[in-house]
Amino acid sequence: MIYCAYRYPQKYMRNRHTLMLYDTRSRECRAFRPAGKRVSIYSCGPTLYRPQHIGNIRAYVFADTLNRALRHYGYQPKHIINLTDVGHLTDDADAGEDKIEKQAQTENSTARAITEKIAGMFFSDLEKMNISLRRYIFPRATDYIAEQIELVRALEKQGLTYDIPDGIYFNTGAYPQYGALGLSSENADDAHARIDAVEGKKSSHDFALWKRTPQGVSRQQEWDSPWGRGFPGWHAECSAMAMKLLGQTIDIHTGGADHIAVHHNNEIAQSEGATGETFAKVWMHGAFLIMEGDKMAKSVGNVYTVSDLEERGYEPLALRYLFLQSSYRTPLSFSFAALEAAQTALRRLQREYDALPHPMFPLWRKKPDNQYIEQIDVAIADNLNTAKVLAAAWDALRDTKLEPAERQKTIRYADSLLGVLSMSRKKDDEEIVPQEVTALLKKRDEARAKKAYDEADALREEIAKHGYEVFDSEKGSSVGKRR
Ligand code: AMP
Ligand code: ZN
Repeated sequence: MIYCAYRYPQKYMRNRHTLMLYDTRSRECRAFRPAGKRVSIYSCGPTLYRPQHIGNIRAYVFADTLNRALRHYGYQPKHIINLTDVGHLTDDADAGEDKIEKQAQTENSTARAITEKIAGMFFSDLEKMNISLRRYIFPRATDYIAEQIELVRALEKQGLTYDIPDGIYFNTGAYPQYGALGLSSENADDAHARIDAVEGKKSSHDFALWKRTPQGVSRQQEWDSPWGRGFPGWHAECSAMAMKLLGQTIDIHTGGADHIAVHHNNEIAQSEGATGETFAKVWMHGAFLIMEGDKMAKSVGNVYTVSDLEERGYEPLALRYLFLQSSYRTPLSFSFAALEAAQTALRRLQREYDALPHPMFPLWRKKPDNQYIEQIDVAIADNLNTAKVLAAAWDALRDTKLEPAERQKTIRYADSLLGVLSMSRKKDDEEIVPQEVTALLKKRDEARAKKAYDEADALREEIAKHGYEVFDSEKGSSVGKRR
C-alpha cells in the first residue's frame, strides 16, 4: 500500500497531524512545513486541443484534494493550473506537429478558436467536479512568451544550451544534475529512447527550448525571438510561468505520473539551471487512470469525457467519489461497474445526510465530533488518505451516539476535504425551531424523565402536527423538520 504510514521520525510524533506528503524527488513522505501561511502550488494543466478525458480529470481532482487539505490546515494556497495553448508536439522527442495547430487544420479553424472552445469545456468539467475555479489561477502559455524567451536567454548565459537548425536545445551533457526525478528504466519514456527524431540533437535527453518555424512553413502561432521566428518548446512554459507568478522556489508542484520522466525532469533542469535555486520543494504525482489495462490517453483513443459519463446517466460527482476511494498514488482501473457502485454509495450518503432531522438549534452552535475530527485529520495528514476520510464520514453518519446536528457538522467537516456532497440545505439549517415546539419538546423530556411514556408519545404526536419529528439520541432529544 502506498499511503504514508507513520514511520516518520519520533520528533514529529508530538504533532500527529503534521501534513505528510509523498515527494517523488526524495522518494519519501515528508513533513510539509512551509515558511508561512501562503503556499505556492503549480499543477500541470491541460493541452487545449481536445477535451480532457476522465484520466486527466483525475489529476485535477488530486490537485483539488491537495488544495482543500492545505486550506483545511489554514494555509492560503496560490495555486496555478496552466493552460497549454502552444508548443506541445505530437511527438515528445521534439519532432512532430504542434497538437493545437494540427487540430486547427483538421477542424479548419484557428488555434485561438480551438483553445478557447476547449478551455471553456475544461472549466465546465472542473465545475461539474466541484472544483471551484475561484481557487485557481489559469495562465495561458501564449500570454508568457516574453518570460519563456527570458528563461532561454538565462540558460544560454549559463552555457546550458546549443543552437541547431531546428532551434535552441537544452544541453543535458552540460548539466550533470539532469534527471532529478530519476531516469530508471521504470520511469523511462519512449521519448528518452530516441535521439534521431531531430537532426543535430546531441542526446536523447536534450529538449527544445525554442523551436524555429521551418523555412517555407507558416504557423498560426509564432513569435520573434533572438533566435528567429518560432515558438517555445513545451517544457519552457511551466518553468517560466511558475517562476513569474509564484517565485523561483515554489512549495509544491503536481502533475500526472506520465510527466515524471521527461516533462518534470526538464522543468527542473530548466528552472534550476537558470536560477541555481531549488525549483519546487515537493513534487507530487497522481497515478494513472487505466482503461482495460492501458493508460487512458487521447492518443490511444480509449477515452471518456465527463460529458460522456453524463450522457450515460452518471453524475460527475460519482466519478469524484470513485477517485477518492483510493490513494491518488495508486493506479486506478476504470470500469462502469465501479462507477455505478460509486454512484450508488454517493447517492446513499447524500440521501442519509439529507434525511437527518433538522436540529433544534441552528447548526452553527454544534461542533463536529472530536473523535471523528481526529480520524479525519489523521487521515488527511497521511498523504491525503481520502479513503479513510470517506470512511470516517460514513461512520459518523451512522453513529447514533451523536446528535443529528453533530453528525451533520462532522460530515460537513469531512466533505470540506472530499467535495462530493451537495450542501443545498444551508438556509434550512439555520432555521430556528418555533417556540411552541421547543416548549412541547421540553414537556416531553420531562415526561420521559418521569417514565410517563404515554404522555411522551402524545407529545411526540403533538410535535408532529407542527411538522416536526422528534429525534432521541444518547445525549438527549432534538427535533427536525419533517420531510
Ligand atoms: P495533458 O492534457 O495531456 O497535458 O494532461 C493533463 C494532465 O493529465 C497532466 O497532469 C497529465 O499528467 C494527466 N494525465 C494524462 N493522462 C492521464 C491518465 N490516464 N490518468 C491520470 N492522469 C493523466
Ligand atoms: Zn508542466
